[in-house]
Amino acid sequence: MQDFAFTQNQMRVVFGAGCRSQLGAEMEQAARRRALVLATPFQKGMAESIASQLGTRAVGIFVGAAMHTPVDVTAEAMSAFNVAEADCVVAVGGGSAIGLGKAIAWRNNTAQFILPTTYAGSEVTPILGETDGGRKSTRRDYRIQPEVVLYDAELTLSLPVAMSVASGLNAMAHAVEALYAQDRNPISTLQAVEGLKALKVALPRIVLSPKDITARSHALYGSWLCGTVLGTVGMALHHKLCHTLGGSFDLPHAETHAILLPHSAAYNAEAASDELRPVVDLFGGSVGSGLYDFAASIGAPLALKDIGFVDAAIGPAAMMAIENPYWNPRTIEQGEIAVLLRNAWAGTRPR
Ligand code: NAD
Repeated sequence: MQDFAFTQNQMRVVFGAGCRSQLGAEMEQAARRRALVLATPFQKGMAESIASQLGTRAVGIFVGAAMHTPVDVTAEAMSAFNVAEADCVVAVGGGSAIGLGKAIAWRNNTAQFILPTTYAGSEVTPILGETDGGRKSTRRDYRIQPEVVLYDAELTLSLPVAMSVASGLNAMAHAVEALYAQDRNPISTLQAVEGLKALKVALPRIVLSPKDITARSHALYGSWLCGTVLGTVGMALHHKLCHTLGGSFDLPHAETHAILLPHSAAYNAEAASDELRPVVDLFGGSVGSGLYDFAASIGAPLALKDIGFVDAAIGPAAMMAIENPYWNPRTIEQGEIAVLLRNAWAGTRPR
């Protein structure tokens, strides 16, 4: 066993179908009385329903949240927060709504109550990625970590199957990278393996039956564990590639993770063969082919060319990916990264 350090982040998690009804009581317990409810424009109805459930505890709704947390949207939301004299935020949605809540908390240290509706895992991390003038920067701070998360699977029943699959693979990517993280510890490894197991069972069931509340709950459980390891240990090549393609080539977040995961895992398969053994045990094949076959079996997108990435961008993206590289178990080499990206672009099954 290797030496390790372990930090336990303080946060409260409430889990259960229908548990959004406890939001008012959670606010009461935290002595918060005036919530600004946040969502994307698409989830306006959900935000209104949460606000109506909160009654006078909701003092405003802001439905301008957008992917990659643009700072001009945050400025608008900050002014809505101040005008409403809010004393906390309630974010209902995926990483976009949650990112906006974190961006507000980073600026004014307000309390955050989160109702996640995707599997991206942002709700349990102290990490905030923001975009300003087309450039994405990421910071980590205790103020960013939400205080209370209510995992209510009923709120995920409306998540389209394609988005559920891509988002579930996004969560799995956190777990796969946590297995070989330089600063991994026995607890992060347990959580990563359990998260992968839960999503392996839940995602195929959701594809067959999107309204299956048990499968939806299981997927949220997996996403909690995968998000938790994203927040506690360092990420490597896979996340660096996704940040590059999302931040500089404007590719959709969850789909990019879903497509790249088999390829980045294959890249590290030999260098981290012991650490990745649980992935082989769960998904079979070699690390990359097992993950690829699982993704294909649940109808995930498999090729970057299908989500708007052009082959002329492979070279520039490979060059950007090796600038300020994250720690990775295998040396990151530009030519090899270009091969990885070409395979992911074409959707080739890793050997
Ligand atoms: P998202 O929040 O952008 O959601 C995608 C779309 O699906 C949106 O239109 C949203 O309104 C809709 N949607 C979400 N849940 C729904 C539901 N249950 N029913 C119907 N529609 C629903 O997507 P995401 O993948 O969850 O989040 C991506 C963002 O989160 C990116 O900006 C990414 O950088 C960030 N993120 C951050 C972290 C972190 O730790 N900081 C972790 C993961 C993701």
